[in-house]
Amino acid sequence: MDKKVEDETLEASLAPAIKTYLQNGPKFLIDGELVTAKAGGMIDVRNPATAQVVTKVPEARSEDIDAAVKSARKAFDEGPWSRMTAAERGKLVYKLGEIIERHAEEFAQLESLDNGKPISEARAADIPVSYNTFYYMAGWATKIAGSTPSPSVPIDVHSYTLREPVGVVGQIIPWNFPLMMAAWKLAPALTAGCTVVLKAAEDTPLSALRLAELIVEEADFPPGVINIVTGYGEGAGAPLAEHPLVDKVAFTGSTEVGKLIVKAATGNLKRVTLELGGKAPTIVFPDADLDRAIPGVTLGSFFAQGQVCVAATRIYAHKSVFDKLMDGVSEAAANIKVGPGLDPTSQMGPLVSADQLQRVSGYVDAGREEGANVLVGGEGLQDSDGYFLKPTILTNANSDMRVVREEIFGPVVVAQAFGDAELDQLAAEANNTEYGLAASVWTQNASVAHKMAKRIKAGTIWLNCHHVFDPSLPFGGYKQSGWGRENGPDALENYLETKAVTMAL
Ligand code: NAP
Ligand code: MG
Repeated sequence: MDKKVEDETLEASLAPAIKTYLQNGPKFLIDGELVTAKAGGMIDVRNPATAQVVTKVPEARSEDIDAAVKSARKAFDEGPWSRMTAAERGKLVYKLGEIIERHAEEFAQLESLDNGKPISEARAADIPVSYNTFYYMAGWATKIAGSTPSPSVPIDVHSYTLREPVGVVGQIIPWNFPLMMAAWKLAPALTAGCTVVLKAAEDTPLSALRLAELIVEEADFPPGVINIVTGYGEGAGAPLAEHPLVDKVAFTGSTEVGKLIVKAATGNLKRVTLELGGKAPTIVFPDADLDRAIPGVTLGSFFAQGQVCVAATRIYAHKSVFDKLMDGVSEAAANIKVGPGLDPTSQMGPLVSADQLQRVSGYVDAGREEGANVLVGGEGLQDSDGYFLKPTILTNANSDMRVVREEIFGPVVVAQAFGDAELDQLAAEANNTEYGLAASVWTQNASVAHKMAKRIKAGTIWLNCHHVFDPSLPFGGYKQSGWGRENGPDALENYLETKAVTMAL
């Protein structure tokens, strides 16, 4: 089929509800109402598989952020939200999960259209993880509890602690897992009893704004508890991070912007949590089961076009298995079917934007210039205007190269062989990065696996697997990969204050 006709056929296959949503124009959710931007600015939303504009979304500027923050402030300070029982709050959080599950196919289509990811992946990963995050967190609402310390003071006292919501939260998310990132932010904040202003990424606003619409239609949150907007980083993200009525900012994105968030938060010393970049090592020992390691490393490297902060971007394999592993991984990578995300047979989609394609391709060029070999990939798709880059593996690399040190955030990974080394030496190489988000280790020796797990400085360690995510598993970074943890009970800590109460008896 002609490429253009094929692209048009794919977009024509979108669910009627999605077509209506795109035609009517997505809106912000502010103070319980669906509204457009005050200044009237709009942002083009492109399908990265075709580079064509599919709709426009409003562009929030500081006046919109101010309105959203004030509504969240009012809802927190005066609204029925703070007076609700934990059980009632938990039920509402659960309901958000049900809304997403009920509209799962529509959300999968939106994620694919907006981010470019294969729809099969959105159906299997993004959407279930998103609704399961709400289901998981909802159960915690009734389990948030303080403690009864026993102070050793000279008078007779009774002491207890209270866990209280931190207040109004500003949340800023990236474009790689748009709905899942929104879920990871909204679910724990709401469960803790906070009110929220969420800014979706300018490149992928569609699923968050669709959720906003469905919240108005199908959930009964009091106005102001959830506000959802989109806009540019400087125009909308920065005023949210700086806003004096915001008590806490939760950010996921690059380490560079994370540092700006910290600075912006100093005005009123708001609490800050950060999920930032990564450069995960994946280490293959000589005794690894290659039948599992080959598909595992391939998935680790190229899932979601490699636009994952925990992607397996540095492959280290023992010299005795290096060739066999890399033959397997490069064959698997070359066989990945790259195509439009909405095509159900595509296994890899385009990168999210023209900018991102340029950035990632720039790294392939830098690798070549620094002497790395392109084992496989390194080029786009012929006859397509979309932002495609085939799965790319670089070999003949060393730890001085930019491609080994810097986060690429695309389908480009670097493979190196290691000799007979002590575990400490290997761990030092794995830890030779400013990041510390994740790592994986492949070996059949359980002792080696757990010894490596202890030695690697990262928030997530996968043994004989990669990219296993669940709302119960705490997720976050050591070093410059961030502050705090998402998921698990740890995520609630981001949104709670502790108050110690003491009475003299
Ligand atoms: P980014 O440029 O840091 O953007 C992230 C978010 O921050 C976007 O919503 C962005 O708005 C906003 N932003 C940009 N400048 C800002 C500013 N000065 N003040 C406030 N907000 C601002 O990152 P990205 O390119 O979208 O995402 C890729 C990066 O995110 C990678 O480095 C990746 O490792 C990291 N990431 C980390 C995790 C994790 O969990 N640790 C998960 C996913 C991604 P715009 O939409 O206008 O850009
Ligand atoms: Mg887009």
